[in-house]
Amino acid sequence: MILYRAAWVLPIVAPPIRDGSVLVHDGRIVGVFAEQSPARIQQPGDAGQQEPSLEVIDLGDVAVLPGLVNAHTHLELSWMRDKIPPSDSMPAWAASLIALRRAHDGDPRAPIAEAIEEGRRAGTAIVGDVTNTLVADQLLGESPLAGAIFYEVLGLNAAAPDQLVTAAQTELERLTPRRLWRRAVVPHAPYSVSAELFRAIGSAAGDRPVSVHLGESREEMEFLQSGTGAWRDLLGRLGVWNERWQPPGCGPVEYLDRLGLLNERLIAVHGTQLPDGELTRLAGAGATLVTCPRSNRWTGAGTPPIDRFYASGVQVAIGTDSLASVEDLNLFGELAYLRRIAPHIPAARFLASATIAGATALGFGQEFGSIEAGKRANLIAVRTPAGLEDVEEYLVSGLQPDDIQWLETRGNAEC
Ligand SMILES: [Zn+2]
Repeated sequence: MILYRAAWVLPIVAPPIRDGSVLVHDGRIVGVFAEQSPARIQQPGDAGQQEPSLEVIDLGDVAVLPGLVNAHTHLELSWMRDKIPPSDSMPAWAASLIALRRAHDGDPRAPIAEAIEEGRRAGTAIVGDVTNTLVADQLLGESPLAGAIFYEVLGLNAAAPDQLVTAAQTELERLTPRRLWRRAVVPHAPYSVSAELFRAIGSAAGDRPVSVHLGESREEMEFLQSGTGAWRDLLGRLGVWNERWQPPGCGPVEYLDRLGLLNERLIAVHGTQLPDGELTRLAGAGATLVTCPRSNRWTGAGTPPIDRFYASGVQVAIGTDSLASVEDLNLFGELAYLRRIAPHIPAARFLASATIAGATALGFGQEFGSIEAGKRANLIAVRTPAGLEDVEEYLVSGLQPDDIQWLETRGNAEC
């Protein structure tokens, strides 16, 4: 049993505690305390049982918080780092990505392993990883991370949507089960998935979270309204256009609602172009919106309306997106950019988005995302200046991996 003392403890579900402490045992959090006296701490276990010895570790000027949640990334694209320049048009950017992917036949595993390590060093505990190949599955399963693997399918002209989904599910079932990993078949986006395929994915999902790119670009909004624009042109050039596809004539959230996918398990990624009515509809369904603002800037999707996101009442989580459209996988960098584009949102809300909101959306809210008794002690300590007054604001100011260490818990919470 270890008692960590720190200048700050951030439970996330409660205000920061100055001069706080966290008691951990066998990989689990036993308690959080405002006082630093171990004498006041009740030891767990039945009377008569031998009580574990207590080790007290004074961490000094650090803030202890839960490991962060990167709710949206594509680790298999890590080899694309710095290979696709920023664009002011998302379909043009996507065309560059597709061309690069078609020209490449190398092994992506070494860049994936480096990216996992990079995320871990930057304090990431959980990821929502979107994949078309499942190539990262084993590397993730062997890493200290936990999370969701979203096996993404596409097809605007898929002939047999149900079979496509069943085949993808079967592939997932053949993989080694891993306790801290959940896998699900998910749709890519409204401009690349037919209505029938959306329905098939929705009905096969069961109680699993379903992630989808939604409301990302202006061109997507146009495509759904009228079936025209740069996405339509690109789909034609790629030879995947479906002449029978009909524009729904509505926004992307309403479209998913009609197709039966709008519910509390929906993880809508980006939402950069969503008007207030669509955000309210997401909020009403209990869905989660994942914002990836640095990626939106890179791909030409635009600047996400962060103030409107939070004002709508929707649960907001945060992702970096892939290294094809962001400079690093450091969520603290994402937080600093959020602070720049939304100076009036309280830092506490950003921190909740980067922890408990993402953990809950990915299906790990009972185990991760806050410092509460019973949860896994997946905790980081971030170096803080002496005499710091506003620790939450400091944590969204742009921290680097050198400022971050993982706390050892002596035990892996196998129970
Ligand atoms: Zn994505």
